[in-house]
Amino acid sequence: VIESDYSRRRALAFSALVGRRLDALLVSSPASIRYLTGFTGSRGLLVLLPGAARLLTDARYKLQAAAETGCKVSAVRGSLLTAAARSFPGKRTRLGFSPRHLSHEEFLDLAGQVRSGVKLIPDGGLVETLRMVKSPREIELLRLSARLNSEAFSRAVSVIRPGVSELDLACEIDHLSRKLGAEKPAFETIVAFSAHSAMPHASAGAKTLSRNELVLIDMGAFRQGYASDMTRMVFAGSPGRRVRKVYGAVLEAQLAAVAAVRDGVTAGSVDRAARRVLRAHGSERAFVHACGHGLGLEIHEAPRLGKGDKTRLEVGMAITVEPGVYLQEFGGIRIEDTVVVTRNGCEILTPTSKELLTV
Ligand code: ZN
Ligand code: ZN
Repeated sequence: VIESDYSRRRALAFSALVGRRLDALLVSSPASIRYLTGFTGSRGLLVLLPGAARLLTDARYKLQAAAETGCKVSAVRGSLLTAAARSFPGKRTRLGFSPRHLSHEEFLDLAGQVRSGVKLIPDGGLVETLRMVKSPREIELLRLSARLNSEAFSRAVSVIRPGVSELDLACEIDHLSRKLGAEKPAFETIVAFSAHSAMPHASAGAKTLSRNELVLIDMGAFRQGYASDMTRMVFAGSPGRRVRKVYGAVLEAQLAAVAAVRDGVTAGSVDRAARRVLRAHGSERAFVHACGHGLGLEIHEAPRLGKGDKTRLEVGMAITVEPGVYLQEFGGIRIEDTVVVTRNGCEILTPTSKELLTV
């Protein structure tokens, strides 16, 4: 991502601001600050005013901020929020803020320090909405992140054998990802064996793998700031009838959901396509979560692909498609790809095969 991208994004954010009848914006989400400026530090606030952007941070990040961003940087002593509050002129200023990225305490602090005449107004997820549609450069970064993630998966498969623990395998995945160039895992790597995988977000534990057990691996990494996310299943041995049957149903649902992705459809219709298939197999009630989510600078971004979600998919949106079936005692089966919406469908960024892998 280059500096002209950031100034273009700030210009877009500013027009969106005007569209919502706001005069200024306080950006407090680190991912949105990064999106609008390139700044990757952990402490910062961005003040957007007509034709001007100012990044507030502290002395620890002064050099880094100057190197990473082309916008004006101030290294503040003391409270960033106080400095931000004083940046907005009084006299009927409608100031947008993000309720999701400001604690109640911070909100009260801000409200108590802005000049009289400044009115605080929720920004309606303005920057998050812009972030949903990725530029070609961002799509390339997502593609490279997905490729790295799949490479780490294929190398980690060699340690899957009876006796390996969930934690061993999760550590191996994280280690390989880092060696391949990831900054960090995009979320805590999920490795769950058999019955344990019936919990969709199981934490890897000390359980060791036995013959004829299912392995669920949900992994992702940040590479140059962009997240990848993939779930694959491995079977240690030769899968019996029930495993093949449930796997076949989830795969069919995943393929149907991927086929439903295209410009203009609602996010909910993708979820519906997966549910329809699972219903026909009698396992819709075991699909206990949404079908997917957006991803980019964060692992979970807008849009959400849940039941009835009305957001219209647009060309350039990056989303996951991840139906799953969770059965107590038997375990869980989920298959997840990352895709980018195109005019007539989508491009699948995840290169890993979706056949049930056996070891
Ligand atoms: Zn995942
Ligand atoms: Zn996911």
